[in-house]
Amino acid sequence: MIPAAGAAGECTGGDCLPVHFYSSSRNTVTSVVGYVRKTRGRVLNYSENMQEFFQKDAGVRIYLHIPFCVRKCLYCDFLSMPQGEETRERYVNALLCEIMHQGDCPPGTPVETIFFGGGTPSILEERQLDAILDALHERFCVPRDAEISLEMNPGTADSEKLRAMREMGINRLSIGVQAMHDGELKLLGRIHTVEEAREAFQLARKAGFENINIDLMSALPGQTFRDWSDTLAEAVGWGPEHISAYSLIIEPGTPFSAMYESGDLPPVPEEETDRQMYRFTGEYLAGKGYRQYEISNYAKPGRACRHNTGYWTGQEYLGFGIGAASCAGGMRFSNTRDLQEYVRAMAIPDILAVRTDLHRLTEREKMEEFMFLGLRMTAGVSRTAFASRFGKQIEDVYGEVLQKQIRQGVIIPTEDGVRLTQRGVDVSNYVLADYLL
Ligand code: SF4
Repeated sequence: MIPAAGAAGECTGGDCLPVHFYSSSRNTVTSVVGYVRKTRGRVLNYSENMQEFFQKDAGVRIYLHIPFCVRKCLYCDFLSMPQGEETRERYVNALLCEIMHQGDCPPGTPVETIFFGGGTPSILEERQLDAILDALHERFCVPRDAEISLEMNPGTADSEKLRAMREMGINRLSIGVQAMHDGELKLLGRIHTVEEAREAFQLARKAGFENINIDLMSALPGQTFRDWSDTLAEAVGWGPEHISAYSLIIEPGTPFSAMYESGDLPPVPEEETDRQMYRFTGEYLAGKGYRQYEISNYAKPGRACRHNTGYWTGQEYLGFGIGAASCAGGMRFSNTRDLQEYVRAMAIPDILAVRTDLHRLTEREKMEEFMFLGLRMTAGVSRTAFASRFGKQIEDVYGEVLQKQIRQGVIIPTEDGVRLTQRGVDVSNYVLADYLL
């Protein structure tokens, strides 16, 4: 429970969990002006912190969550669902309200990147996407060189919609292709074939998109090393500027998980095969001109995703829409995951009512994040950046961990810091967990 504007509240303890382990508390104030609350014995002033965030010189990074899909894929545990036109319309209206009622954002605040993620943002109609971008232009200053990305699924945008998206300023597409064999796509429950994905890619090119990412997944049930190498070769043949390649994780609660338990899935590749696929991906793509810049991301020179690089290098960001997380003004918070609740709150409109898990990041949490997000980047973390951000030497905080991990061969010193070795990447979950203080 968060007290209303101006009232100093008591810290309820349970609603102040550390970063990465969000609490389940719900904002209940109805004022959008601001409020104070105690968190871990300190006063948290949302409004002041947000003003501080918007006053920074760096442009704002904006994430918009579009939680709609044509059909739920069998492996998916993202916040997404099939919904009819009426619900989509109500959601877009609510999203517009959230954008327009950012009370702490001064006019002309510059934007660095915008990312439409989902779900399937390309399911929205042109006029809906246009209205969202108009609202962002009205509320912020979106320069011509801002990176504006949109996630698209094959079969959800024809040439007319693609042209319209390009004209409204969207300049980067991320196409969810996932696999290059029809049998694999069917098993995953995707709505498209390989041919339809290729067609979508070509239509996007014709519409003028010169910066396209393809999402792929390895370690699929029944997939052989050869299947994966064929997938990569096919993807490279299309000539995208960027490739994201993740290993499939069978998430609890998904249909895939139940199928796995009941033995209805073909066997998933062994861990060793998964690693071989991963290493091959890096080597193969490097030979084709794609530089790996993050554990799962590869790009042609100058085509790394600016928006995601911001996350990994500890830049703050603002999320709109259900489930969207924000890290702004030294705070972290997420919007409610409940679509009806979100729409109801925006009808008032009451921005704070949808904020959940509001938490002021401690210095310790910021350092942890700096390390385990930064180490995901192939460049690693910079000693100089650590010192300038925290006023401490990296060795003073992490000296023992660094020594131990260098001895273990999972990280290696660089000119100005450390980075993961190949062995470190293989066991990155364990390596990164060591940086929790
Ligand atoms: S298209 Fe993406 S977000 Fe939608 S159900 Fe499939 S995996 Fe999930």
